[in-house]
Amino acid sequence: TNYQGVGLIVGVTGIVGNSLAEILPLRDTPGGPWKVYGIARRSQPAWNADNCVEYIQCDVLDPEETSSKLSKLTDVTHIFYVTWANMGSEAENCRVNGDMFRNVLSAVIPNAPNLQHICLQTGRKHYIGPFEAFGKIEPHDPPYHEEMPRLDVENFYHVQEDILFEEVRKKEGLTWSVHRPGIIFGFSPYSMMNAIGTLCVYATICKYEGLPLRFPGTQDTWNGYWDASDADLIAEHHIWAAVDPFAKNEAFNCSNGDVFKWKHLWKVLAEQFGLEFHEPEGQGLSLEKMMKEKGPVWDEIVREKGLVPTKLEEVGQWWFADVILSAGSTLDSMNKSKEHGFLGFRNSKSSFLSWIDKMKAYKLVP
Ligand code: NAD
Repeated sequence: TNYQGVGLIVGVTGIVGNSLAEILPLRDTPGGPWKVYGIARRSQPAWNADNCVEYIQCDVLDPEETSSKLSKLTDVTHIFYVTWANMGSEAENCRVNGDMFRNVLSAVIPNAPNLQHICLQTGRKHYIGPFEAFGKIEPHDPPYHEEMPRLDVENFYHVQEDILFEEVRKKEGLTWSVHRPGIIFGFSPYSMMNAIGTLCVYATICKYEGLPLRFPGTQDTWNGYWDASDADLIAEHHIWAAVDPFAKNEAFNCSNGDVFKWKHLWKVLAEQFGLEFHEPEGQGLSLEKMMKEKGPVWDEIVREKGLVPTKLEEVGQWWFADVILSAGSTLDSMNKSKEHGFLGFRNSKSSFLSWIDKMKAYKLVP
């Protein structure tokens, strides 16, 4: 094949990395045909192995390993950076995520003469502040738009952006884009934040124990307007920015372009698992507490239903679901993306359903 683009996906088994790995190699993908390299820390899982991607196992936090493995990829034209590390404190997040990003860029930029563009995925916490600052600082007033200034709070997204701006200056003509999704609806049992996967695991446990699907969030969450970011749509947004001259050197929000209410999606979730559902109860419940002792139950379900082996703590990010379902709703604006020519969108309810189907099809839940 006479490749046009050569993509390097950093975090290829993640929630957006997996979508990029599926979409980039397709014949009709803009900027293609693409040759694709995919990096992740662990060995390649079966659910990621069907993609036409050259898989490279590499811990990008290790500078020597990253340099030796990535400096060889001299044909890379585009970097898609879709990974992060969660260290608990934002000060540590800044340090570690800065190091990871710098390790990748300093291995690739000097050695890939045709490198043209770097896509960096950050997120809506750009407008709200890091998890640890929730409720402690004044966020921007939604709907969030890209012209809003940085909040005056430590945030690893700022560190990554600054590294990006500094690194692209080292190579004439090298361009960048920053992508800021909200809650991502997607598929990856390795993701550190997978809302739908987590809710499917919760629903599966409710079903197994004969319990109704209680809504862990608050009344405000139940009734508010929400938006989400479909992982395939985010991948399309990355690819658009990688190839379209109007998208260069800009930050863009990335969301589905519609709104939903959790009370409607909760009904959908309950239907998909054959459950009765409950409305919110008082101040809300903590999934983290409710699921604390359920590891052995999950092991039993996995065995009994012949699921792909997973550990409950890998596939159920209860802290994340608790944060989402107790925070107030936040919306962003897609005007800037549209004004620059990206007209992609998703129907959030269909998106929600399709990722539940995928969880079942890949036997992560029954
Ligand atoms: P993810 O957790 O789904 O995937 C991370 C990927 O990176 C995996 O493939 C993992 O194996 C790989 N990885 C982790 N550490 C590595 C290392 N040291 N070396 C090599 N590979 C490593 O990622 P994500 O959720 O797409 O996160 C990317 C960005 O998107 C983050 O800034 C995150 O805050 C942001 N974001 C995520 C969500 C969400 O709902 N998941 C929402 C908004 C913003």
